[in-house]
Amino acid sequence: MRTVTVVGASLSGLYAARELRAQGFDGRLVVVGDEPHRPYDRPPLSKDFLIGRAGEDQLALTDAEETASLDAEWLLGVRARGLDPRGRTVLLGDGRTVATDGVVIATGASARRLPGDSLAGVHTLRTLDDARALREELTRGPRRVVVIGGGFIGAETASSCAALGHAVTVVEAAPLPLVAQLGTEMAAVCAALHRRGGVDLLTGTSVAALHGTGAVTAVALADGRALPADVVVVGIGATPGTSWLAGSSLALQDGVLCDDGCVTALPEVVAVGDVARVGGTRAEHWTSATEQPRVAVTNLLAGHTVESLRPVPYFWSDQYGARIQFAGRRQEGDTVRITEGGLTDGAPAEDGFLARYERDGRTTAVLSVDRPRPFQRARRELARTAAPAQPAAS
Ligand SMILES: Cc1cc2nc3c(=O)[nH]c(=O)nc-3n(C[C@H](O)[C@H](O)[C@H](O)COP(=O)(O)OP(=O)(O)OC[C@H]3O[C@@H](n4cnc5c(N)ncnc54)[C@H](O)[C@@H]3O)c2cc1C
Repeated sequence: MRTVTVVGASLSGLYAARELRAQGFDGRLVVVGDEPHRPYDRPPLSKDFLIGRAGEDQLALTDAEETASLDAEWLLGVRARGLDPRGRTVLLGDGRTVATDGVVIATGASARRLPGDSLAGVHTLRTLDDARALREELTRGPRRVVVIGGGFIGAETASSCAALGHAVTVVEAAPLPLVAQLGTEMAAVCAALHRRGGVDLLTGTSVAALHGTGAVTAVALADGRALPADVVVVGIGATPGTSWLAGSSLALQDGVLCDDGCVTALPEVVAVGDVARVGGTRAEHWTSATEQPRVAVTNLLAGHTVESLRPVPYFWSDQYGARIQFAGRRQEGDTVRITEGGLTDGAPAEDGFLARYERDGRTTAVLSVDRPRPFQRARRELARTAAPAQPAAS
């Protein structure tokens, strides 16, 4: 391969660029990113950056020295708008084209929107520019904040807004926040975290409309209630960044379909990070975005799948001063057992807890709040007992 193009200049794109060089690719490396910024880290956007504890310089994922050593052409502030059916030409939004021998798709995901969300005061939180705008608005004195969606981004944003002294309400359509990810018992613990943090949590109700002329004034709920609001944060999930691939020959189905080794139907095109559906699963977690590029690049340079991923999914979240960590594959019907620490009034006790999800006497997943060491041990144990990676058929 003489040229490899990485599309998406963020976490997984940067890791892919690093892997290409680390694995000996010494040809032309082009990195295309539609944001004007160099790669930065998103997790702090809803946490320390929003509350002003971290500045923009602390978000940077790379520095001048590394950028120079990668010896890549960074095409920033320009969108890829197409990939030809053979995967050999990347079309750019400004009319240029990049002829390439290999492509790493790392276009992540973008925040899902709500009708009417163009009103002033309504925000999503995915990018640095989103976070800058929200942070600026939150510094204008006490605000009534309504967060739509009680998932990880919604919960973290609510927690940060509460820490800044704003009056916060979270609206969640499901009966409990994070119930799909954590199951009923542990989702109830997360609900208790909101309440302990002084945030109103309304569950089992959805949003009917956003009201206001010019700027948002209220959130109308499907059950007829209206919540007065100065600031609304829409945290209802993310859509994988595949629209630019319409017209390519790649299979797109809630992400770019890849095998267990991140390889698409074209062996010279691999996908990594939030945009990639790897072996049937699409994760939106920092750790997947940093683990997949090594295997993807190995397979890209080999010309076919020589290595597969068998990850134990892992994510963390920081809410209301508590660190939540989860690893494994929970299934509906697993039993949950707290094996260390415990709860106080339904919320994590001061020194946290460790819980195991179990099925047929086996641990399927572990969750901890503020118990990092036992969690890491349990996570390693899960990795040991997970099926060993199979060598891929060539
Ligand atoms: C606010 C926030 C908090 C988070 N907190 C946590 C956390 O606590 N724990 C955790 O495990 N994970 C967390 N995550 C998730 C984690 O940040 C993502 O999994 C990770 O950023 C995925 O990296 P990526 O490179 O695949 O995608 P992204 O980070 O989405 O990057 C994709 C890049 O590609 C660009 N792009 C898209 N389309 C095109 C195109 N056509 N042409 C050129 N460029 C394009 C995008 O603009 C973007 O810059 C958080 C995410 C957010 C938004």
